[in-house]
Amino acid sequence: MHLRHQKGEKMNEAIKATKFGADVFGAEAIKEYLPKDTAKKLQGTIERGEPLDPSIAGEVAHAMKHWAMDRGATHYTHWFLPMTGATAEKHDSFLELKNCEPIMAFSGKNLIVGEPDASSFPSGGIRSTFEARGYTAWDPTSPAFIKRHGNGATLCIPTAFCAYTGEALDKKTPLLRSMQALDKSVKRLMKLFALPEAHVGCTLGAEQEYFLISKKYWEKRPDLVMTGRTLFGAPSAKGQQLEDHYFGTIPENVLDFMNDVERALWSLGIPAKTRHNEVAPAQFELAPQFEELNLATDHNMLVMDTLRNVAEKHGLKCLLHEKPYAGVNGSGKHNNWSVNYGGRNLLDPGTNPQENAIFLTMLCAIIEAVDKHADLLRASVAGAGNDHRLGANEAPPAVISIYLGDQLAKVIDQIQKGNGGKGAGGGKKGMLRIGVDTLPPLPMDATDRNRTSPFAFTGNKFEFRAPGSSVCCAGPMTVLNTIVAEAVDRLAAELEASGTTGKAKPGEHTAAFHAALQDILRKTLAAHGRVVFNGNGYEVGWLKEAEKRGLPNSPTSLEALEAFSKKENAALFEKYGVLSARELASRHDIFLEEFVGKVRIEGTCERDLAGEMILPAVRDEYAATLDALVKAEKLGVLSGTAALKENLVELGSGLDALKAGIRNLDEALNGSACDEILAAMRTLRTTVDALEHHVPDAKWPLPKYREMLFLY
Ligand code: ADP
Ligand code: MG
Repeated sequence: MHLRHQKGEKMNEAIKATKFGADVFGAEAIKEYLPKDTAKKLQGTIERGEPLDPSIAGEVAHAMKHWAMDRGATHYTHWFLPMTGATAEKHDSFLELKNCEPIMAFSGKNLIVGEPDASSFPSGGIRSTFEARGYTAWDPTSPAFIKRHGNGATLCIPTAFCAYTGEALDKKTPLLRSMQALDKSVKRLMKLFALPEAHVGCTLGAEQEYFLISKKYWEKRPDLVMTGRTLFGAPSAKGQQLEDHYFGTIPENVLDFMNDVERALWSLGIPAKTRHNEVAPAQFELAPQFEELNLATDHNMLVMDTLRNVAEKHGLKCLLHEKPYAGVNGSGKHNNWSVNYGGRNLLDPGTNPQENAIFLTMLCAIIEAVDKHADLLRASVAGAGNDHRLGANEAPPAVISIYLGDQLAKVIDQIQKGNGGKGAGGGKKGMLRIGVDTLPPLPMDATDRNRTSPFAFTGNKFEFRAPGSSVCCAGPMTVLNTIVAEAVDRLAAELEASGTTGKAKPGEHTAAFHAALQDILRKTLAAHGRVVFNGNGYEVGWLKEAEKRGLPNSPTSLEALEAFSKKENAALFEKYGVLSARELASRHDIFLEEFVGKVRIEGTCERDLAGEMILPAVRDEYAATLDALVKAEKLGVLSGTAALKENLVELGSGLDALKAGIRNLDEALNGSACDEILAAMRTLRTTVDALEHHVPDAKWPLPKYREMLFLY
């Protein structure tokens, strides 16, 4: 007993030493800085989503200011997620002059709303500059935190960002709305299972992949500086063929970097948990423990910020681009997602027939949602960067399918082929009877095949693997919540219409209810089971098979984004109160503009680098070779001239191709077709990468793959 007590204390001290949550205005700070009553009210809002009592805002602001000042903060900012996909902040100091005397002020109003003159954020036509003001509104469910920088500190208050009309100008607002939609649908369904009303929660664990590069190389690569990816670079002799990097020993300097990242994240209350080498050389992963979805989304934004900032201090650069290097793996951000009810994970198959029935219902709802709205899920991960990654043989293809694993697939198959409405007790032999039979224990999927799937069931959660490494989780998660809310809602409506619900005591269900459920799930699977694919998603055969099944395939983002302009999709978002038609249209515009903008920047950068750095180097080498050849021939030296001539031809034809490639890209840039720009970029790159082998290493103007990927 005594020993256990001591151990516990030591444990607490150890946790304190990590400073976990030290820079977060969380439960502990609230308890310390607020009177009991106010603290209780605020916790109610944070934990149960109860509306915030406006009368306590002043007190909360006061406490927050003192807490922040005790931690060295002099400024505060509303921190939000504009449509740029990054985070935004505009700092104000607490300092105010009152009767010529400086005071430190921060009011309830300062906390609750902000009016940044944020007219330059993309709004997709929702706001014109004459009505430029946007509003930021405090999101108490994501705690305020301290951002440290050099010798200063700033209090950051997570907020939603809206236009004066109330229209969402950010990524958080639709996410919160989609969580409400799912909440409502799941409550409706759970009521039919005769469960008492409880809190519906979503959870997200976002695995973050990234590359590290030595800053000295990064500085010499204008393409990385401008676009985040290498536009040129021949493959190095060694890439990832030996599979020796994945899970390999983490280099010491990288481990130092990771330690610093984790310390910073822990201070921010972000439960960074797993770190390891990834598949490509110089590629790594950080995975936090999963958290509530809205919080986890904010936290992932801070993870990306922290990775970038800490890298600087270690003489490194952190590349969050989806495909910094051609020919080796790109980086994703696997969104592990699940839904819980009263704290129980609904995607956990459970151990008894009741839990199994709920699990199978949710599973079928998700299958329906993903099949029906594969186009929206695909669009939610669209982006100029991710286009180079999806389907590039080491990331899931652009066709959205679901991986269930062999055992669960068998269960689904049984339901699908089952006897339908003949009564849950009267199924054919070997058929699963919902509400009667217990599912066999499903092993956590141990195979590697799920890695090739864009949407994989992994034991008690789904892993959406298509999102790119730089994406803000809010976009894909908003779509996922909304489409699942719709499917759950539809299943609930069908169950209600069966006339078998509402007849059981809490926690019990009737046989008639289960028979109706079995029939509804069977029909759902018959209509949507085609989206389930348990094979290898990297195989070319799958694309053909997917086409046969009628699954959409939009390999490019421009095509994929069209999903956001479809009338039926606008109706879906509007019906569930997630985005109005105007809000969705604005997003469509913003994403298109962003895509086109990025492609044009890349194209321009590639043209400029080819003309200003590569061409002069090749020309000089050509001239030097020519010079040597002329001199040798003049002196009548025969040896070596054949080789020089061969070199000259290689360099000369390369030079011609280079010039033509630059001209071609320049012409494409004069037009407006992104696919033409991208095609011209690919052609030019092929020429440049071939020339890399014909120019002396010392004269090549850009650091090479063999340096960037291995010397960090
Ligand atoms: P991997 O997929 O690489 O094997 P893990 O199985 O460790 O990785 O899990 C990946 C992520 O999934 C982690 O962030 C983990 O916290 C998260 N996760 C686990 N359970 C859930 C859940 N119920 N909801 C959301 N995320 C979860
Ligand atoms: Mg994973």
